[in-house]
Amino acid sequence: MHKGDLTGIEIINRLAEQVWRRDVKRLEDHRALDLIPATDGSGLAGVLMLDMRTGEPLMVRSRATLLATGGGPTMYRYHTPSGDKSCDGMAMALRAGLPLRDMEMVQFHPTGLLAGPDTRMTGTVLEEGLRGAGGYLLDSTGERFMFAYDKRGERATRDIVSRSIQDRIRKGFATPNGGVWIEMKHLGPDRVRREFKGMVERCADCGFDLAGGRVEVVPTAHYMMGGTVFDTDCTTPMPNLYAAGEDTGGVHGANRLGGNGVANSTVYGGIAGDVMGVRVKPAGAFPEPDSATIEAALARAMTPLGKPSGDLDGVRRRLYDVMWDDVGILRTAEGLARGAESLAALQVDLAGMGVADGDRRYNLTWMDRLNLESLILVSRAICAAAQAREDSRGAHFREDFPTASDLATSRYTVSRLQDDSVDVAMEPVSFTRVRPGETLLHEAAE
Ligand SMILES: Cc1cc2nc3c(=O)[nH]c(=O)nc-3n(C[C@H](O)[C@H](O)[C@H](O)COP(=O)(O)OP(=O)(O)OC[C@H]3O[C@@H](n4cnc5c(N)ncnc54)[C@H](O)[C@@H]3O)c2cc1C
Repeated sequence: MHKGDLTGIEIINRLAEQVWRRDVKRLEDHRALDLIPATDGSGLAGVLMLDMRTGEPLMVRSRATLLATGGGPTMYRYHTPSGDKSCDGMAMALRAGLPLRDMEMVQFHPTGLLAGPDTRMTGTVLEEGLRGAGGYLLDSTGERFMFAYDKRGERATRDIVSRSIQDRIRKGFATPNGGVWIEMKHLGPDRVRREFKGMVERCADCGFDLAGGRVEVVPTAHYMMGGTVFDTDCTTPMPNLYAAGEDTGGVHGANRLGGNGVANSTVYGGIAGDVMGVRVKPAGAFPEPDSATIEAALARAMTPLGKPSGDLDGVRRRLYDVMWDDVGILRTAEGLARGAESLAALQVDLAGMGVADGDRRYNLTWMDRLNLESLILVSRAICAAAQAREDSRGAHFREDFPTASDLATSRYTVSRLQDDSVDVAMEPVSFTRVRPGETLLHEAAE
């Protein structure tokens, strides 16, 4: 499926039309707060939601629930997803005791627009096709540096280009705002305007000439390969809970290819719908939700209301700095230990901050505080998994362990929240299709 560069919007619109046409009952402007297990231990009993319009909680009881809140690494200084993506699904899964896998695998897109420090346009993605078509990446001296890192130059994979840019920046060759330049004009400005209309317009909106000049770019956090452990039929270790899309881990391994994010969420979203449709009992009693978990979830969400405010924006900026500097593209044991310490301190600081305006109706400061809580918790899981994984593979790069471990005996991380500590276990990778050393079919054909 493809429709220009608006495929995702097209999918969303068609799905929304079908929801309306079939008169599916929906809860608009409701935010999921926590997964609530059944009292009898039989699995999930439903989800505690918040009606953001009134600020009133609502316990939605269900026989089956699909976790699909879409990840989104917005805890990094530069990021592509919009701010409403706050890793709520993964945070809910952690609090419910569910295992998350591959959390260290955060994908950075090499070319985020660097429009300056005070605009949300910074971090927004400039598409891969620019490098694919032959765009140059240049450092502050105008040198085309990528061939010093990889023989494919700018066309190397996302992880390699992101690391190379970061290294170049760190070595003191950064452009005025702290990135590198992308240059397209050698391809002919008219061709660039024709083939990359959306990108040229996006840059022009911010005052930059992509077709005939240079535009500053920086790697930007784009996608989370890690997420909830799930099976290919979208079941999770918790009965009655299904998961699909960017909330899940394991679909892309250590590196996602462009285009496979939407493919993941549409394919597994479809599978989840099919499987749930067959397995969910159409009648019978709903599982009884555990009241102690509801109480705890309500206390977590409601306690800050009416309490003296803290500097939430300051917490967000510190989170950006910690994740970018210590848990970012190039990682070391020392930096990660510092990151873990800073994240623990941030969690404590946030816990002491209220939301002075106690009016629950569309209280966006309150929503922002909830966002930060999820982001800090999931950041801790990313940091802990990155500490545990002492090798480099795909998106995860440890400068102190720069090579990949032996593939045949390789392991992946599984993180769990236990007594407010993130515990990480290493599980052996099971090779079900291509075993290490085997030749892929297309290579054999070549
Ligand atoms: C800028 C950008 C460009 C991209 N380009 C591509 C591309 O070209 N090709 C590609 O394959 N992939 C691309 N991706 C990745 C792809 O868009 C995502 O992986 C995919 O949309 C994830 O789908 P999803 O259904 O899992 O989640 P989403 O599409 O993010 O949907 C999750 C929904 O859950 C809602 N939600 C979140 N938290 C809560 C909560 N607590 N309660 C209730 N609702 C909640 C969100 O508001 C959202 O509506 C891009 C991503 C970004 C950010």
